[in-house]
Amino acid sequence: MSFPIRFVLCETSHPGNIGAAARAIKTMGFSDLVLVDPQDFPSAEADARASGAVDVLAKARVVDTLQEAVADCRIVYGSSARRRKLRWPELNPRECAAQCLEIASTGPVAIVFGTERSGLSNEQMDLCNALVYIPANPEYSSLNLASAVQLVAYELRFAMGEFQSPQPPEFPPATGADMELFYEHLLRLMVSSGFLNPDNPRQLERKLRRLFNRARPDVNELGILRGVLAAAERHIDEPEND
Ligand code: SAH
Repeated sequence: MSFPIRFVLCETSHPGNIGAAARAIKTMGFSDLVLVDPQDFPSAEADARASGAVDVLAKARVVDTLQEAVADCRIVYGSSARRRKLRWPELNPRECAAQCLEIASTGPVAIVFGTERSGLSNEQMDLCNALVYIPANPEYSSLNLASAVQLVAYELRFAMGEFQSPQPPEFPPATGADMELFYEHLLRLMVSSGFLNPDNPRQLERKLRRLFNRARPDVNELGILRGVLAAAERHIDEPEND
């Protein structure tokens, strides 16, 4: 499923940052880049920093104003290192990503990034529905432009569920019934070996249950454990083999 998510860079002064931002968004699976009145673009430096993402740069739309860049958007987020809490609702990139994907199912959404020196102006923020602040060192909170783009794009990708397709496990986890048979077996051996006095069980069983429940063995691992218990039991039954 692809989401119409647009990355808008405002009045970027360093073409290298435009290239690095293009690379950042492509690595996270996005391609819609809009440049509002960039100082120097197209540029060889932007191409060089984009590396394998020159296609994103080639497709990037250049417009004169932020209004034009976001005219068709259902929601606009302004990414800012300056927290202007009193005037705009504030989200972190994770919260922004979750909300953004929900709204993106209804139409394009935009995330806007400010110019390197001074960030987004209040007039630009006036076109945004919410401010996105990347939690950072309060004494030095201004990330490089492309780094900020990367972090926001990463959260979007993560929220898109890319992380939810793990490899199927080699063996299925043991069932509750399998685990009960194992605990019975383990206790039997603990008693028969003399390790556990059934009249004074203390918290041993509970502690061992806690240990194995934390480990959540799969059926294969549980089979190995049962094999160890069975071998030890045979040893106890036939002490002459010692
Ligand atoms: N000195 C500027 C920061 C410019 S950094 C200022 O005070 O706002 C260039 C852009 O990167 C910012 O406009 C913003 O879009 C983004 N950015 C950098 N650090 C950020 C942070 N901590 N949270 C959100 N966006 C950030």
